[in-house]
Amino acid sequence: MAIALGANLPSPAGPPLATLQAARPLLAELLADLEPGVVAPPSTRPCSGLRWSPLFRTAPVGGPAGQPDYLNAVVLVNPTHPPTAAAALALLADLQALEQRFARERREHWGPRSLDLDLLWWGELRSRNEVLTLPHPRLLERAFVLAPLAAIDAQLTPPGARATATQLLTQLRHTSPEPPPTRLPGQPGWPE
Ligand code: ATP
Ligand code: CA
Ligand code: CA
Repeated sequence: MAIALGANLPSPAGPPLATLQAARPLLAELLADLEPGVVAPPSTRPCSGLRWSPLFRTAPVGGPAGQPDYLNAVVLVNPTHPPTAAAALALLADLQALEQRFARERREHWGPRSLDLDLLWWGELRSRNEVLTLPHPRLLERAFVLAPLAAIDAQLTPPGARATATQLLTQLRHTSPEPPPTRLPGQPGWPE
């Protein structure tokens, strides 16, 4: 399973960096619930299954002109839960509730946002409707998703791809006019 995080507007937590720093433990807590049989309270649960990418700064792709740069990251999850359509819809609702906690507003397509959480894939689960499409349909064409994935695991091949995230990223650099994402150094609360 992989989840993409993005932010380019301030939230009640502060600028995008503060938003992502504040959202991270909340997302970790939410994802810990995917590990069945865990009885410890959320604060003491090990989240060893989570692999966080570094943060990347990216010029906006698509959407209205003039919106601020994005901060992006990806987290890889190793859920013991088998993927089911119902569990994936429940997770999507949880992700959207977390977006709401950071005052996400949907005003225009691909417009600026305080927090965006996309489910990129969950195991072999396939879904083809508007509410939930899995794997995420634009995953393989987005440098701001591929760069964090490649930073976590240079050998990772995303579902639906015939090449690694690293190779796809290199191909994009040759074909896309967009400047590549730049990696940020580790931050408090985001050590990667
Ligand atoms: P994009 O999907 O191109 O990244 P976006 O993130 O800006 O666009 P949103 O406005 O955040 O799009 O979401 C629009 C709808 O996309 C949501 O209401 C949600 O139901 C739907 N959706 C479909 N598949 C997914 C997915 N894999 N992850 C998150 N949302 C999804
Ligand atoms: Ca998105
Ligand atoms: Ca989204």
